[in-house]
Amino acid sequence: MEKTSHNSAEQNSQENQVIIMDIYADIILDHYKNPHNYGMLSKHNAEHKETNPLCGDIVTIQLAVENNKVKDIRFTGNGCAISKASISLLTDVVKGKTLDEIKRLDKNDVLNMLGIEVSPARLKCALLGLKTLKLAVYNYIIKQGNHVKEKDFHVKDA
Ligand SMILES: [Zn+2]
Repeated sequence: MEKTSHNSAEQNSQENQVIIMDIYADIILDHYKNPHNYGMLSKHNAEHKETNPLCGDIVTIQLAVENNKVKDIRFTGNGCAISKASISLLTDVVKGKTLDEIKRLDKNDVLNMLGIEVSPARLKCALLGLKTLKLAVYNYIIKQGNHVKEKDFHVKDA
């Protein structure tokens, strides 16, 4: 009896883990099917396009920046569920954020947001959105005549 109850506790914890992963997978699937902020802005002042040749993901991000904050954001493009969902989630998160806050976002912020185990092969899919977003911010800052280094906007492993 003792042994059985121990086993079932362990099994429960494993089952909970699976349920949590399922919830995250549902969120990703939902964002993939109904991406948030998909489309183009009528007025934008920053834009960047990136591709992930390993998977074939393509994304263009447009920003409407006002007072150094992202007032609005849209994306277009096509890609796998992980790339599209992570971009969709990201567009929700960064609306209203300052350019400085976006500059500080990194790999782990995206992985935490996704909440699933991302295999090394899919890492570039997951990080494509953040890579594109940060380079759009870089483009905006340069266009304003400010001197910043592009490498300071790079995302590790993207
Ligand atoms: Zn992909």
